[in-house]
Amino acid sequence: MLVVDDDQDDVLLTGALLRAVERTRFDVDTAATMEEVEAFLAAGPHDVYLVDYGLARITGIDVARRILQAEPHAAVIMLTGYDDYAVDVRAAEVGVVDYLVKGGLDARTLERSIRYAVKQQQAVRALAASEERYAVAMAGAQDGLWDWDLGSDTLYYSERYKAMLGCRGDELGTAPREWLQRIHAEDRPQVQQALRDHLAGRTDHYQSEHRMRGPDGTYRWVLSRGLAVRGPDGRPSRLAGSQSDVTERKRAQLQLEHDALHDALTGLPNRVLFRDRLEHLIGRGLRRVGASAVLVFDLDRFKIVNDSLGHAVGDGLLIEVARRLLEALRPGDTVARVGADEFTILLEELTDYREAERIADRVLEALRDPFGTEDERELYLSGSIGIAMVQLGATPEEVIRDADAAMYRAKAAGTGRHAMFDTALHAAVVNRLELETRLRRGLFAIVDGADGLQIAYQPIVCTADGTLHGFEALARWRDAEGTLTPDQFIPVAEETGLIAALGRFVLREACRQLSEWRRAHGRPDLAMAVNISGRQLLEPSFHLHVEAALRDFGLDPDALRLEITETAAAADSEAVHRALQELHARTGVRAHLDDFGTGAASLTVLRGFPGDALKIDRSFVLAMRGDTGAFQIVKAVVGLAHEMGMSVVAEGVESQWQLDLLRELHCEYVQGFLLSWPLGPEAAGRLLAGSLVAAV
Ligand code: C2E
Ligand code: CA
Ligand code: CA
Repeated sequence: MLVVDDDQDDVLLTGALLRAVERTRFDVDTAATMEEVEAFLAAGPHDVYLVDYGLARITGIDVARRILQAEPHAAVIMLTGYDDYAVDVRAAEVGVVDYLVKGGLDARTLERSIRYAVKQQQAVRALAASEERYAVAMAGAQDGLWDWDLGSDTLYYSERYKAMLGCRGDELGTAPREWLQRIHAEDRPQVQQALRDHLAGRTDHYQSEHRMRGPDGTYRWVLSRGLAVRGPDGRPSRLAGSQSDVTERKRAQLQLEHDALHDALTGLPNRVLFRDRLEHLIGRGLRRVGASAVLVFDLDRFKIVNDSLGHAVGDGLLIEVARRLLEALRPGDTVARVGADEFTILLEELTDYREAERIADRVLEALRDPFGTEDERELYLSGSIGIAMVQLGATPEEVIRDADAAMYRAKAAGTGRHAMFDTALHAAVVNRLELETRLRRGLFAIVDGADGLQIAYQPIVCTADGTLHGFEALARWRDAEGTLTPDQFIPVAEETGLIAALGRFVLREACRQLSEWRRAHGRPDLAMAVNISGRQLLEPSFHLHVEAALRDFGLDPDALRLEITETAAAADSEAVHRALQELHARTGVRAHLDDFGTGAASLTVLRGFPGDALKIDRSFVLAMRGDTGAFQIVKAVVGLAHEMGMSVVAEGVESQWQLDLLRELHCEYVQGFLLSWPLGPEAAGRLLAGSLVAAV
């Protein structure tokens, strides 16, 4: 402690008071003049200064001011002989902590005043130090600060924050909406989500990396971090944090990503990116996106050009080739440079393979004009192209390999050509597309009674007495371009959804024919079996069509049998069973289980099958003689069917011995070439007139 007093008596008095303080011992220096005070200040600080107001030539106020000037947070207590309010106020203004009147001052009061003064000045000093550290840190940091008062919904930004965005003065308002609008539209939802998550307490801090727009319209990438300040109820009252400019890092990162996926010379995608896009395309499923093709494009004899003219010229040519390729292609196509002089092209959304060939032609054509070099020379380049159509289920490597193989074939045939991979496969694709067109055309034509879809009727005969039980209606396709077998057109019809129209036609026409025959030949018991595809059966309106067909042609439900193959039933056995049950409940029509024994789950399908007959597949009937296993199976199946209250129709009966065996096994019905081929309507009518099938 430094006691400043020029009155020796007073010094002694103060000393006595200080000594009387019980718990604290003071180490006291004394100064009587300003010079002595200066000397002490120069030597170092004291914890506390006791300054007498009434000094000889100067006032204690001057001394206090001097001390606080040298030591801004000094604990200075003023002692005075008499209580003067004005002096007290002045002392406080100067920064004196306490003002004590000597008369009546006791040891306890003095000690308390000293203790408080020291404590208070310590706190002030600590605060000042922390504020100073903070200010220094802020001035040195690159971060901008922001503080969002949620109550008043205003945002405060530090100068650095504004400078970061290139905003001056009050160019950045305090409305949070303005802040939000400066965020890039693509990033905005993600920022809002991060804010919501943190405010709701789902994250322990808010963090987001996004783009913000400055007044000049350019965007900067920023990293923003913040923390909510919450009230005792956990509700956030404000959100504050920092923001740093990460544009350079982001740019470098994007550049790196770009470089990893692009060719440095031409800027085109590289092999990695190309493969990625192709894989993505295959993953999407080709059916929905139409035909796609991969082209492998290779410059002819480029190595010679490169070696003789130098790499600089070669590079210039490659850049020009890349430019021309892009120009020849459609906007969505991908061209990649995958080797020195090799490019791959991905064509999506093609109408057919011919379009791929047309584009290949265009690419070759684009090379036809001479290329200029820097020394004004003209050069002619050509290339070869291999094309592979992207097939369902193929891997990117397979497609590229196929296109590559085709490219080598094109090259072998001469320069400047293209070739399609595997013409046989290619032909199948073409065929399939043409078939579809044919079916479409034909099905539309049905309405006009034109050619296309027709029906053949194959007799089904009772083994017991050789009488004609009924017919199976079999779809036939015959148009100007020739005939198609059901095995060719039924799968296409199913895949394209044309099966619904086809099936409806067969159903109605077969019913019409049956009703005509029943009347014309006096055979009201004659039955008709119609094949139904699984997809057709599961259509919600299917039963309505059956109902309408029966009603329109005056048929009872027993007249009609619907054949559903075991494979179709197994595909979704529960749904098929349910649909058949419902169909029976609504219309009374029963089902036959077709091609029995050919699937992988025959017994599973048979269990609970809501029908009254099963048709043993012709492969078993054919094998019955040579293969005792097949015979045993047929025998068991017939037994099993009977046990379940079903009858059996044997398909594909071609010889007498088969018929004999089946009759022995008590198989109720037979169908096959031995008895009759599938017949046209007139031939079937003639057979009906005879009514007995010769072979039986
Ligand atoms: P499926 O239902 O098993 O029809 C019997 C097939 O066996 C018919 O072939 C028939 O011509 C043939 N066939 C008849 N007897 C013999 C014989 O003794 N030996 C041999 N080897 N074959 C015989 P098709 O007409 O080519 O029909 C093939 C398949 O097409 C049918 O098999 C059926 O699953 C399907 N199909 C035919 N018409 C339709 C239809 O209108 N709708 C649906 N969804 N499918 C149909
Ligand atoms: Ca004095
Ligand atoms: Ca059938």
